[in-house]
Amino acid sequence: MSKSINILGSTGSIGTSTLKIIQNSESAFSVNLLLAGGNLEKLKKQVQEFNPRFVSIHDPAKATELRHFIRETAPETEFVPFEEALKLDCDIAVSAIVGTAGLLPTIHAIRHAKRVALANKESLVAGGDLIRQECAETGTEIIPVDSEHNAIHQCLRAGEPKEIESLILTASGGPFFGLTHEQLESVTINEALNHPTWSMGSKVTIDSATLMNKGLEVIEAHFLFRVPYSRIHVKIHPQSVVHSMVEFRDGSILAQIGIADMQLPIQYALYYPGRPENQIFRFPLEGSFSLDFHDPDRVTFRCLDLAYRCGEAGAAERIVLNGANEVAVQAFLKGRISFAGIPAFIEHMLNIIDVPHPTTVAEVVELDRRVKKQAELEVERGHF
Ligand code: MG
Repeated sequence: MSKSINILGSTGSIGTSTLKIIQNSESAFSVNLLLAGGNLEKLKKQVQEFNPRFVSIHDPAKATELRHFIRETAPETEFVPFEEALKLDCDIAVSAIVGTAGLLPTIHAIRHAKRVALANKESLVAGGDLIRQECAETGTEIIPVDSEHNAIHQCLRAGEPKEIESLILTASGGPFFGLTHEQLESVTINEALNHPTWSMGSKVTIDSATLMNKGLEVIEAHFLFRVPYSRIHVKIHPQSVVHSMVEFRDGSILAQIGIADMQLPIQYALYYPGRPENQIFRFPLEGSFSLDFHDPDRVTFRCLDLAYRCGEAGAAERIVLNGANEVAVQAFLKGRISFAGIPAFIEHMLNIIDVPHPTTVAEVVELDRRVKKQAELEVERGHF
């Protein structure tokens, strides 16, 4: 029997890669739900190609057209309103909506799927405690899709949790590795979007350039693997060959190596604990290659330390960090703030906003909304 898959965020980079894995799976998996944010044209093509049982779109303005399209061209697929779509049962839900918009869908996925393949790191940053609690109550397993955490998940199969000494997250360093603060002042949007080793969506690409991506991943690792922040380290590794490492208490360090293609961690998350045979994702071992590791420049790339600080501080600070960053990245992409202004803006938001500690998902969502609203006002004021 094939396993049913709900793809939350099917038209994005991870969603598209997931569909490729399903396509090559020889019916090991079937598409139960395709859910998109607003990219109706791409969603239509996916419906025609993959014949999902259900389809949904978040943008209400596009729901009518989607419904019409289904009736005319794909009568075997059923249109479901967004809120209901989140509650459809399945074997595996792939949570691939970008930003904190993915938090509620992730929570529903934990309640309605047997396994969540988690690509949305912001949901763990904003609501890590609540996600952990939901998993404990439902027994749902999370398999990380984020390449670093996926690598750690693989390495951890070699030891017990109590044998972990530290987690070492690798970072490519992004396009600006080695630049000074002065040089960062004048970088352009296109330069920031030009990632040296990974092809990803624009939010995560900018986050990679600022090192905020690694900061969010430190918090993500803390919640996924229950390791204290003081034992989660970051190494710049420009080749993106080692996707992360685990140091065990006996002194052994295990690393996971593979090509830099998100299909590999997605495949792992879908097939776990099995490993399918394929020839597509072979790492080129012929010839010589080298592996370099450097300490990150935490003074120039301040986002990393901001993330450590907020991770230690608590849920409210994590929500401000994440919300302010999402707004800052969008503002940078629109040319409203400079690249170097991103960490300064986040720090400013951490200083001016006073937030209570949230204890429910609804409170997290509300707090996130409040932070972003205020952050947008600050961008309007144009101080950065
Ligand atoms: Mg990553």
